[in-house]
Amino acid sequence: MDLVLFGIQGSGKGTQAKRLCAEFGFDLFEAGGELRKIAASGSELGATVKSYIDVGKLVPFEIIMQVVKEAILARPKDQKILFDGIPRDLDQMRSFDQIMADVGRKYQCIEITLTEEEGVQRILGRAQIEGRADDANEETIRRRMKTFFEKTKPVIEQYKIQGHLIEVDGRGTVDEVYEAMKRGLGDRA
Ligand code: AMP
Repeated sequence: MDLVLFGIQGSGKGTQAKRLCAEFGFDLFEAGGELRKIAASGSELGATVKSYIDVGKLVPFEIIMQVVKEAILARPKDQKILFDGIPRDLDQMRSFDQIMADVGRKYQCIEITLTEEEGVQRILGRAQIEGRADDANEETIRRRMKTFFEKTKPVIEQYKIQGHLIEVDGRGTVDEVYEAMKRGLGDRA
């Protein structure tokens, strides 16, 4: 079964995703990372993508869905995928669910929960270590948080209503959060 990981920026989602992949053999699809690669490519499409990333807005629907769809189709069906950063709004959710249904992939959702303030503090710390431009600017960080609460939270709520969501408290240490995720997943990983 595939996994879809949700969490506000700064929740430790990326770190936890890598650990899950290493332990359980998921192939990671990181939406932000894929888009940053395109942004750095120097193409016209890259310039468009970069203009959204730089201000913390969602890249247009057609662009991200094309990237995800190609990534899904490129992987063998028996290769489990961990999705980080997709779907990010209700339109993406509908499209993602359709693509997954079409190829016969089932998935479980996990949210690592954290408040906005805790997230902002952690990102500001991370920017000094990793040097990500969109992490260094507090206004961009706030915009990404706003996007998360306005656009992504409704997606998480839908998955919760459907009974597909596991919620894990993101306030602990990396190890504590990871163990809580594994407990939540049980034999579904
Ligand atoms: P992240 O690395 O997940 O924080 O994403 C960094 C940036 O990439 C976001 O602020 C958006 O501009 C863009 N992005 C990532 N995932 C998506 C997505 N699913 N849809 C649209 N834009 C995205």
